[in-house]
Amino acid sequence: MLELEEALRRILAAIPQPVSESVALTEAHGRVLAEQVWSPLDLPVFDNSAMDGYAVRAGDVAAAKPESPVRLRLVGKVAAGETSWAEVKAGTCVRLFTGSPLPPGADAVVIQEDTRVESSDAGAVLFLDSVKPSENVRHRGEDVKQGELLAQAGEVLTTGRIGLLAAAGSTHVGVGRRPIAGLLATGAELQEPGQPLGPGRIYDSNRIGLGVLLGCAGGVAKLFPLVPDKLDATRQGLEQALAQCDVVVTSGGVSVGEMDFVRSALERAGGELQFWKVAIKPGRPFVFGRYQTKLLFGLPGNPVSALVTFLLLVRPALLRWQGATDVALPRHPGVLADPLSNPGPRRHFMRVKVDAAGNIRSAGRQASHVLSSLAAANGLVDVPPGTNLPPGTAVQVIRWE
Ligand code: AMP
Ligand code: MG
Repeated sequence: MLELEEALRRILAAIPQPVSESVALTEAHGRVLAEQVWSPLDLPVFDNSAMDGYAVRAGDVAAAKPESPVRLRLVGKVAAGETSWAEVKAGTCVRLFTGSPLPPGADAVVIQEDTRVESSDAGAVLFLDSVKPSENVRHRGEDVKQGELLAQAGEVLTTGRIGLLAAAGSTHVGVGRRPIAGLLATGAELQEPGQPLGPGRIYDSNRIGLGVLLGCAGGVAKLFPLVPDKLDATRQGLEQALAQCDVVVTSGGVSVGEMDFVRSALERAGGELQFWKVAIKPGRPFVFGRYQTKLLFGLPGNPVSALVTFLLLVRPALLRWQGATDVALPRHPGVLADPLSNPGPRRHFMRVKVDAAGNIRSAGRQASHVLSSLAAANGLVDVPPGTNLPPGTAVQVIRWE
């Protein structure tokens, strides 16, 4: 039985080189950047005003106070987006708005609230306060310098990163292609949702949950029909999915019972088992196999086992497939408010609920078929084997949504 880290290492070592494609920036959220992007521009592009106010020479208003205002002649107005600038010479000022280019000659902006215009003298402005040079000015290049690296290959494109690329003029970016990921649920007891339940049957809940997680990890989910517990049917299902997809994720049929056919079906289909069983709970019977360049992840059927092994072992694989550098789940510290106990011999990824203050409580019963506690959970805590963690213990919480 492999340790989790070794299992993950072997999976990541089997991931093929990412293939890149160009996408519109509007479609790039969550995609993995496949190229370095350098800024062709300074940002801000030009010196401009941070406020509505007046461009001045700071020296001209150095003595300005509410009780002894300084009067400057108003020589022009520059709206945001305008290019015809009046020059600010000594004793003069120019009306500006947020984003207006700073006119030549000016070195500061006095905010409108610190000025007064008298109706009897519309050609002048009274300044009630002084400013330091550069005050309320956003300087060219203070955010980003031309030629600076804006985004690195391997980064997942976040909202902020997309905004930055757009500001620098990008319309398209090179990103890793998304893997087409087939989802196959095995089990003679499974019923398609929406159909009445016959005796001994249960609704398939794995394909829908795994499909959501797949999409969150950048995969393109492709659902295949339910597969009964028969070797031939399992082989055919696998062959069909392997032919149409880059990655195949199955659920069920990976345990030790005589109705568990995923491993033998993979081998019959010409694939190779890479490993079976990982020392974690839930999810021990996890299977990793390969067929040519394609990858097979055989998840246990119990719904919590399927989702937890997906998060720990399949999500990183899908992200790396797209070229992502960092494939770890987000985690943060917290403190146990309830005890968490793992008397067993394997690490137990226990379902927890963490509040905004970082207090962690058990999300309920921890058996691998119990979906209500998964529904109540917003995190997992990795509890080492044979360990009782008392309330007050500082732990890391693994998050996924
Ligand atoms: P298995 O891994 O095939 O031995 O299945 C373990 C348990 O998970 C059994 O109780 C199955 O009925 C249940 N199970 C398997 N596949 C699914 C599925 N797609 N949706 C919900 N439960 C499942
Ligand atoms: Mg089964």
